[in-house]
Amino acid sequence: MTKSGKLLTRARLMEQYEALFECPLCYGEIKVDEGKSLLCTNGHRFDLAKQGYVNMLTTPSKTKYDKRMFDGRKVMNEADFFEPMLNRLSEIVSQWQAVAHKPKVTLLDAGCGEGSHLSSLQEKVGRQVQEDVLGVGIDISKEGVLMAARNDDANLWCVADLAKCPFADGAFHVILNILSPSNYSEFDRLLSDDGVLIKVIPDRNYLTELRSVFYQEDDRREYSNEQTVELFDRSFELLEQERIRYSVRLNPVQLEHLVHMTPLSWGAADEQVRKVLEHDLQEITCDFTILVGRKKEIIR
Ligand SMILES: [Zn+2]
Repeated sequence: MTKSGKLLTRARLMEQYEALFECPLCYGEIKVDEGKSLLCTNGHRFDLAKQGYVNMLTTPSKTKYDKRMFDGRKVMNEADFFEPMLNRLSEIVSQWQAVAHKPKVTLLDAGCGEGSHLSSLQEKVGRQVQEDVLGVGIDISKEGVLMAARNDDANLWCVADLAKCPFADGAFHVILNILSPSNYSEFDRLLSDDGVLIKVIPDRNYLTELRSVFYQEDDRREYSNEQTVELFDRSFELLEQERIRYSVRLNPVQLEHLVHMTPLSWGAADEQVRKVLEHDLQEITCDFTILVGRKKEIIR
C-alpha cells in the first residue's frame, strides 16, 4: 500500500472511532477533518503524522526512553518472550467479553511503548471473540508511538500524556497497563462502567538472572510488588490477582536486546551487556502478577 493510501486507511479508522476522542485542551468533541487531522469543536487541531499517529500532547515532553529500549522490546516480543503472559491477558479479555457481549470492543493500552504488546493482543482477542476489536495505544514517548504506527495499521496510536488522556469518559471497555506506570483517576474516567482494568507488574523473580549479574549478593534488593497491589486495590475493585511464571531460552543477540529493554540497564548499557554475555545465561525467568479490576462504587 502507498504511504498516502496507508494514511487514508488510518484516517478512515479514526473517523469510525472518532467518538472515542476528546480534546485534551478544552474537553470538546473531536471530529476527523479532511482525513488529515483531529479537530475539536473549539478549533484545536491535532495533525495525523505521515507515519499514521497523532501527537496529542499539550506540552512537549522529554522522556528517558530511547530507541534501543524500544527496539529491544520489539525483538523480545518477536522472540515470544512475553507470549505466555499475552496469551493469558487475551484469555482474560475474551472471558470478559463472553459476559459483556460488546459489539465493538475497545482496548486502551496505557503506556504502549513501541506497540507490540497491543498489536499482539488485539489480534489474539479479535480471533477469540468474533467481534471487531480496536486497540488504541498511547505513550508519552513519540519514538515509541512512531514505531507502533509504522508497524501496525489495524489500531490507533497517539502520543499523549497519561495524566491528560485525549479520550471521552467511558470510552474503553478494557484498559491495559503493562509494566508501565498507572494513573488511576484517568483509568476510572476512561473505563466504561462494566469494563475491566488489567495491570501487569513484575513479580519477585522477574529477570532474576540479570539481577544476580548486576547486583552483588549483599546489596541485592529483594523486589516486592506489594505496594503496587495495595494501590490498585485502593483505586479499583480487585477481582483477580494471579501470578504467571515461566522461563525463556534466549540466544546472545536476544540477550543483548533484553538488556537494552530493561530498566536495569539504564546507565552503562554496553558494560552491562558485556557482563551478561560473559555469564553465559541459558534461561531467563519471567515472573508477573496480573491484576484485574473494575470500577468501585457502581450500583450494579
Ligand atoms: Zn479543544
